[in-house]
Amino acid sequence: LFITFEGTEGVGKSTAIRGASDWLTQKGVAHRVTREPGGTPMAEEIRELLLRSREEPVDRTCELLLMFAARAQHLARVIRPALEAGEWVLCDRFTDATYAYQGGGRELDSAPVAQLESLVQGETLRPDAVLWLDAPVETGMARVAGRGGEPDRFEHERVRFFERVRQVYEARAGNPANRYRRIDAEVTADEVADAVRRTMEELHR
Ligand code: C5P
Repeated sequence: LFITFEGTEGVGKSTAIRGASDWLTQKGVAHRVTREPGGTPMAEEIRELLLRSREEPVDRTCELLLMFAARAQHLARVIRPALEAGEWVLCDRFTDATYAYQGGGRELDSAPVAQLESLVQGETLRPDAVLWLDAPVETGMARVAGRGGEPDRFEHERVRFFERVRQVYEARAGNPANRYRRIDAEVTADEVADAVRRTMEELHR
């Protein structure tokens, strides 16, 4: 199975993936953990290009194309071979993040995202489940910043960006064809871990 993990900042995605991987190891299920953007040496270089702070602002269409360029390489070199070998693949972000971040966050139309999805993935390669860790944006941002308190003006900008990201995840979760499993990430870490484990059990059946 191909399982992806999505969510906005500070929702506990990395912990959830570790928990899911530990659970599969216990069950003796061969699996691979990977991430996007990245997952191969070349795709990790594209990640570096995209994420490191720079003087030149990134055009959002350039960003979109680089995301899918990295994804094509990742699919060819890692994801498809693993799935063909019968392994489960746990991927930290995938195309849903592109709809959410480049579509929602950076306000690109979803039509070119869908076209690139078809081009790069064909019509059949889609996640079997999207584990969406969902919490209010300000909860996640406070966790990342390690504090509560009132956001300043710059942070308001970021809050609005992540609100748009979250809205896309929410909208996509409403379509059963997208195979979302919403996990409430506003609860304690132990409760999130339990919910992740229960979801993995359901998927394993
Ligand atoms: O998964 P993680 O939160 O570590 O990703 C790092 C950052 O990469 C995200 O917070 C987001 O800003 C960015 N990203 C993006 N578009 C994607 C995937 C990730 O802008 N499709």
